[in-house]
Amino acid sequence: MPVEDPDPNPKADSTLSPDEAFATLGNETRVEILRTLGEESGPLSFSTLFDRVEVDDSGQFNYHLDKLVGHFVLGTDEGYTLRQAGRRVIEAVLSGAVTDAPVVERTRIDQPCHYCGADIEISVRQDRVVKYCTACPGRNADPSTTLAGAVDEDGFLGTLPIPPAGVQNRSPVEVFEAAWTWANLEFLAEASGVCSRCSAALTESVTVCEAHDAANGLCDRCENRHAVQFHADCPNCINDLHGPFVLKLVSRTELLAFLTSRGRNPVAPSRGSIAAVDRVHMDYDEAVLSTDPFEARFTFSADADTLTLTVDDSLDVVDVER
Ligand SMILES: [Zn+2]
Ligand SMILES: [Zn+2]
Ligand SMILES: [Zn+2]
Repeated sequence: MPVEDPDPNPKADSTLSPDEAFATLGNETRVEILRTLGEESGPLSFSTLFDRVEVDDSGQFNYHLDKLVGHFVLGTDEGYTLRQAGRRVIEAVLSGAVTDAPVVERTRIDQPCHYCGADIEISVRQDRVVKYCTACPGRNADPSTTLAGAVDEDGFLGTLPIPPAGVQNRSPVEVFEAAWTWANLEFLAEASGVCSRCSAALTESVTVCEAHDAANGLCDRCENRHAVQFHADCPNCINDLHGPFVLKLVSRTELLAFLTSRGRNPVAPSRGSIAAVDRVHMDYDEAVLSTDPFEARFTFSADADTLTLTVDDSLDVVDVER
């Protein structure tokens, strides 16, 4: 049957309400169109796209394609291609499509705890790698995790997101390394004020536990090791980040240089060297100089050297001591 190429870009306006966007995706043919376009590096003509998608009726096909054009699909003179929103949708679908939520029971891996040096254990559940120390009390309650019970288990060190695709064909230690690298790239964006999911400008704030006492590892009052906690919330999407203030400092030149000049790669550590980076990032000293306006000093250590960054109310580094 001959197929007519309709107007390739009938809708210039690409904005959809969330309700409309979800409704648009609730159809197998449309998801198949997104997937087919995602497998191509360049645009596909209407007739090629129609041939590749399993649908008999070109009228039906045209109807579904038309629903996607605008927000999810871009129509050009050369044909159809995914817009960023369409690409993210299909990536999210495929990241979970490899297998049903894999579970890895608590397994000891050859990685040291960045606080005490003992071996750590990991488990995988609900799309997260959960880290535990086998010797020390670990870190803190992690407000970003929804894993019931995980934070109460002995030695809880935190969680890292990992979709089912990340667990495929990897040993437990490889799963841990993949999750670390994947999360770290997001942290670098977020430390720079950019939402890693949607690129909007994050709203940043800081909280200070004023009666902080972590002499035994964790503070009874705030359940954290560090009194100064960083919060970055996206005003556009549901992404948010909460954790020790180092999360705001990981993309600073001074801290990156402090690590790299000592042979530690803070972006993608080589096999077995994640703990050497984590030790610098997570086991730092802090001194709160003032809460109103906020001012604090953070001292990082490696190989008997120190780097002290002073941060003021703007959350910018205002002084550097080496
Ligand atoms: Zn430990
Ligand atoms: Zn506290
Ligand atoms: Zn966002």
